[in-house]
Amino acid sequence: MTDCIFCKIINGEFGTEFVYENEYAVVFKDINPKAPTHLLVVPRMHVESLNELEDKKLMGELLQTVKDVTKKIGLKSYKTLINTGKEAGQEVFHLHIHVLG
Ligand code: 5GP
Ligand code: ZN
Repeated sequence: MTDCIFCKIINGEFGTEFVYENEYAVVFKDINPKAPTHLLVVPRMHVESLNELEDKKLMGELLQTVKDVTKKIGLKSYKTLINTGKEAGQEVFHLHIHVLG
């Protein structure tokens, strides 16, 4: 999606460093961290929110990506958060999983 900030990041338009990436997702640091480690796991495919995600394989791959990136950086204890919808605090309408450690 051309006017989506996370699609632009995924396409490398801002030169954002990826902490981890695979076929399904990229992981980068949140610009406004709420914890010492605050990562965003973002599917390469543009999906507005969890409510629009229908691909069950991708659902699994996103959680697997959380496990893989935290293992890679040695983060054993962390919280995950998905804001779904404006009222719940979703600000960027490209699905992402917050990883807070
Ligand atoms: P939401 O509130 O939609 O669940 O979370 C969006 C998150 O994206 C926020 O924590 C915000 O700090 C982060 N964010 C917004 N724009 C950018 C950006 O351009 N780069 C990065 N790295 N994070 C961003
Ligand atoms: Zn997008």
